[in-house]
Amino acid sequence: MTAVEDRPGTRPRRPDVEPGQLFIGGRWTETAARFDAVDPSTGKTLTSVARASAADVDAAVGAARAAFDGWAATPGRQRARVLHRVADLVRARADEIVAVESADVGKPVSLCRAVDVETVAEQYEYYSALAQGLDGATRQIPIPSHAYTRREPLGVVAAITPFNFPLVLSTSKIAPALAAGNTVVHKPAEDTSLSALLMAGLLAEAGVPDGVLNVVTGFGSEIGDALLTHPGVAKIAFTGSTAVGRHAASVAGQGLKPVTLELGGNAAHIVFEDADVEQAVGAAIKAFVFNTGQFCMGGPRLLVADALYDTVLAALAEAVPHVPVGDPFDPATVVGPMAGERHRAKVEHYVEQARADGGRIIAGGGRPAFDGDVAGGFFVQPTVIADLPDSSSVVQEEIFGPVLTVQRFATEDEAVALANGTPYGLAAGLQTTNLARAHRVAARLQAGIVWVNDWAMLDPALPFGGVKDSGFGREYGPESLDSYTRTKSVVISLA
Ligand code: NAD
Repeated sequence: MTAVEDRPGTRPRRPDVEPGQLFIGGRWTETAARFDAVDPSTGKTLTSVARASAADVDAAVGAARAAFDGWAATPGRQRARVLHRVADLVRARADEIVAVESADVGKPVSLCRAVDVETVAEQYEYYSALAQGLDGATRQIPIPSHAYTRREPLGVVAAITPFNFPLVLSTSKIAPALAAGNTVVHKPAEDTSLSALLMAGLLAEAGVPDGVLNVVTGFGSEIGDALLTHPGVAKIAFTGSTAVGRHAASVAGQGLKPVTLELGGNAAHIVFEDADVEQAVGAAIKAFVFNTGQFCMGGPRLLVADALYDTVLAALAEAVPHVPVGDPFDPATVVGPMAGERHRAKVEHYVEQARADGGRIIAGGGRPAFDGDVAGGFFVQPTVIADLPDSSSVVQEEIFGPVLTVQRFATEDEAVALANGTPYGLAAGLQTTNLARAHRVAARLQAGIVWVNDWAMLDPALPFGGVKDSGFGREYGPESLDSYTRTKSVVISLA
């Protein structure tokens, strides 16, 4: 699909990407309509992608249903071997995967290699191991019988994923779903669908049978409902915005389909007066610039104790302008472009709103200027805004870009109230040297994951997910397999 040089001392090159087709029943399938995939670091078209219709969705679900019985009956140990081969192939072809994902998403190559590609390999290894142990249990009941439970796959899973972590978030559905014996129809985000196609080819190469994984590219507004309402779909696994997630949940409700929802976030990061300031500022910057702020579990709201407020603001004003922003294909880049023009427009809207709401911009606030290849990219400067009222939409809503608001608090109770004071509840964090406070506050924060004295500590073994408007259900960990299996009790009379 691509070629790229990415050796020590060599700057990786943008790939040449072939036009994308649908992947249905193990075959590449053409569509009448297509749409462009744009490289957000240049603003130029990278390639074109097949634009699926409802009929294509129907064909993909049909292929997944046809493949289900065979894959579900395949011994877990054999499924495990296939998934492990996927992990090996991901590592072997990391250069190619990094090139495609970085060009499509604008993701810095260093981040993409260390985080995205490595996490995908680790997820396949992790669920490969769990695929071997999906056992039921024997139960003792007072009826003369042999009673036991079986864990069975659900059927066809509709996996719908967002634009910001295409590889990682599709894998967090596909790997556990396949490990448990389900088949999948994956619909990646229209902005960033290329790595889904690359992975479909790679899974086939690893031995995933035809029809077990199908990929339909296209627009959610055009094919989303065809997938959500399809009678052949047994389960919906959705990651994306809260607005679309609400829609998916209501449609799933009509069809009485189990659904997991990984939705938006707006995490608070609390710096208590007993924090290590240098560590806290480093973590605060990481939390809001990671993945160019397009991170559902990013930390865009910094809450700082009165005693440290001026010190932390001064440290941010000094450090943030030095965060390397630029060409994602430069290995030194930490912050690339926004993944699309509309995403940049959204960030700029919030920065303007911050000015209107009386916010004080202490770093960034505009666009960086570049020459050469990336002159037309969708860049924004990492931006820090102080002194906004808590009621500002800039504080309350999800910006999803490299923007940090900083608020002050007087007491632990006030910090917790501010942290819990938005509709979201995906992640949260705190900085403290007081162990008792770490446990006490972690327990009070309304979030699916809480980090203490660092940010974004994630692992396939550790479940994450939301509360409140951030959704429900858990991905990662053995917990993820619970949402891709159902338990059946079998009771054999011994009377
Ligand atoms: P989005 O909701 O716009 O799109 C997500 C997916 O839903 C895309 O594939 C899209 O095509 C599809 N879609 C759109 N309309 C649909 C419909 N009517 N029916 C079915 N599918 C439809 O989200 P986005 O802009 O791609 O992603 C950003 C959002 O995702 C942010 O809110 C972010 O916080 C969230 N997110 C959450 C997590 C998490 O784990 N909780 C992870 C990453 C991103």
